[in-house]
Amino acid sequence: DGSGLRKTVIIVRDLTETKKKEAALLRSIRELDDLYNHAPCGYHSVDADGMIVKINNTELSWLGCSREEVIGKTFKNYLSSTSQGVYTENFERYKKSGSQKDLELELIQKNGRKRTVWLNSTAIYDEQSEFIMSRSTLVDVTERKELEQELIRKAQIDYLTGLNNRDNFNSLAEREFATCQRLNIPLGFLFLDIDDFKEVNDTYGHHAGDRALSAVGECFINALRNIDILGRWGGEEFVALLPGVAGLELRELAERLRIELSEVRINIDPDVSIAVTVSIGASYLESSDSSIDSMAKRADVALYSAKSEGKNCVVLNPDSLAKGTAKLTGVIC
Ligand code: GH3
Ligand code: MG
Ligand code: MG
Repeated sequence: DGSGLRKTVIIVRDLTETKKKEAALLRSIRELDDLYNHAPCGYHSVDADGMIVKINNTELSWLGCSREEVIGKTFKNYLSSTSQGVYTENFERYKKSGSQKDLELELIQKNGRKRTVWLNSTAIYDEQSEFIMSRSTLVDVTERKELEQELIRKAQIDYLTGLNNRDNFNSLAEREFATCQRLNIPLGFLFLDIDDFKEVNDTYGHHAGDRALSAVGECFINALRNIDILGRWGGEEFVALLPGVAGLELRELAERLRIELSEVRINIDPDVSIAVTVSIGASYLESSDSSIDSMAKRADVALYSAKSEGKNCVVLNPDSLAKGTAKLTGVIC
């Protein structure tokens, strides 16, 4: 300053507040990072080519992969083949619409296990409205899906025999009937009623009766083909729909089924085994049939006849009830 003396100016600034703010900022970044990585849902971001650019720990654990393995790979790589198609188709549409809701996909884990997820995405665009990237949330719905499938299964399958229940048999049968009628394919229908089943219950108890019904179902499953549709009509009554089988061939098949069941030994106790027999009414698709009901009615009439003929036999009813004849032929006892 001209006096020849040197002066040092020291400015002391109080950084306490700044440091506090910095520490708070760091804390909230860590909190956000923690939330992002350990949220109970998967998060990832992909670029315009569907390449993963960011992914959270939860989703990584679902995939069974490390971050290094996944970054730069297309998300599609981690989906089942069916879901790959669904995802690709939706991705192109979504890049334009900007949002995607509850897209159901199957993730494939590194160990091969599948996980069902719902994918929700939001697109990010630049100033020229070009798609830059997408942020996605994945919710694990595996348990919900399994429960849903279990409920559907329970609503369609008879718990005792594992066969289709009556409702499900009817819907499958309607569909098969329509196909066979349209394509002119023969179709056979069987009504199968266990003989004197009340006696089984009366002699050995209801529990043994249940065992016997389950064994009957198993015998029918083993004796018929995969394409045949089997059902428990109710009680001790069963139904079978046999595509490609009609006329005498149907009668022979029913006869074989009757004999096979009569040879099954059903263990109802460690030292008691029983056998049951079945009466079968058979019918097959005729050109005058307008629904599966008319075939079922003819088979029912044939079953009634089989019971009157002395049970443990097959009756084939080739005549349409609509003609009013209901003539029964082909009795084998
Ligand atoms: P038929 O030869 O004339 O057919 O005589 P049936 O005794 O088999 O026929 P009926 O209709 O007189 O009796 C059927 C019996 O089937 C009576 C019923 O208690 C039994 N039943 C029906 N459903 C079940 C079931 O789920 N479990 C058991 N254990 N028995 C059943
Ligand atoms: Mg009955
Ligand atoms: Mg019966």
